[in-house]
Amino acid sequence: MVQLSVPTAPPALCEWTRGKLSAYLDGDLHRGARAQIDSHLRLCRACRVHYITLRNVVALLGDRRSMPLPVGFSQRLRERVQQSVR
Ligand SMILES: [Zn+2]
Repeated sequence: MVQLSVPTAPPALCEWTRGKLSAYLDGDLHRGARAQIDSHLRLCRACRVHYITLRNVVALLGDRRSMPLPVGFSQRLRERVQQSVR
């Protein structure tokens, strides 16, 4: 049986981390929460992928010159992200 080299994190912590990622990106978290997410992202590859994806999306959305967004885009995006978290 093959074991992942990444230490497995408790799912509750993954859920907590993913729920905080957008606030984390916005710099809206206090220092303790940021530190906890920093360390979790180092340990947990799945959450790191979520983080990188979200960060890329935010970077794209932030550059409005390059891409006019269709109506309802952010709502659909949020639903998509929430589905992938489950
Ligand atoms: Zn995780």
